[in-house]
Amino acid sequence: MSQIVLNNLGKSYGNVNIINGISLNIQEGEFIVLVGPSGCGKSTLLRMIAGLEDITSGELLMQGEVVNTLPAKKRDIAMVFQSYALYPHMKVRDNMSFALKLASVSKTERMARVEQAAEILGLTPLLDRLPRELSGGQRQRVAMGRALVRDPKAFLFDEPLSNLDAKLRHKMRAEIRKIHQRMGRTTIYVTHDQTEAMTMADRIVVLNGGHIEQVGTPETLYRDP
Ligand code: ADP
Ligand code: ADP
Repeated sequence: MSQIVLNNLGKSYGNVNIINGISLNIQEGEFIVLVGPSGCGKSTLLRMIAGLEDITSGELLMQGEVVNTLPAKKRDIAMVFQSYALYPHMKVRDNMSFALKLASVSKTERMARVEQAAEILGLTPLLDRLPRELSGGQRQRVAMGRALVRDPKAFLFDEPLSNLDAKLRHKMRAEIRKIHQRMGRTTIYVTHDQTEAMTMADRIVVLNGGHIEQVGTPETLYRDP
């Protein structure tokens, strides 16, 4: 059974269709990259899956259940944004554990999960710093840490690397793949960068004008014709 199923999904604002009949089956553990030009609907589609955007038509299923109207916080999905949105007055460890605190996870369990995520992300020596004492790449890692500690069924990334310089983007691409390999969680990753799509995806979904133009592995999509 596919973990996430998009069944003829549509989204419109008034008379304007932003997402037009998108269907896709996503398997557990898959790393999907959604790629396409600016304005093609990538971010909207991701937010529909996250539960941050209403679905106008069609069905969204997770583990076989229709979740069209299920609130975001009940979807067991964690999203990582381009702007890190860290709490400036909180240390790294508190930034990472805040959502767990809201979810009433015990202090011992919170500390254990933060330490484990910090180790995966190379943040262990930085746990007592404030966001302003970190580099851009380190802040992006803390934003990922906040998602990791929740141990969700799926991760959604919305252009997480576009604020970073080329060298750091290169490094973070490899790190995100490594984390995916280690955790094995389903990942949907939005980017407008073809290199990210080619180097990171198990499967690439090319969006254009709110519909799927092509789907395939990096090898089949970018092979010389
Ligand atoms: P992408 O992430 O691929 O750049 P978006 O999903 O952000 O694309 O946007 C897709 C289209 O939807 C764009 O044409 C955008 O102008 C439009 N759009 C996004 N949000 C709204 C909104 N709240 N009201 C009307 N149109 C919107
Ligand atoms: P990166 O190559 O990851 O962007 P930087 O060159 O920005 O890293 O930073 C190098 C080191 O300096 C990092 O270990 C970072 O923690 C530290 N650092 C950067 N900015 C600050 C700051 N404002 N206060 C304290 N330490 C900082």
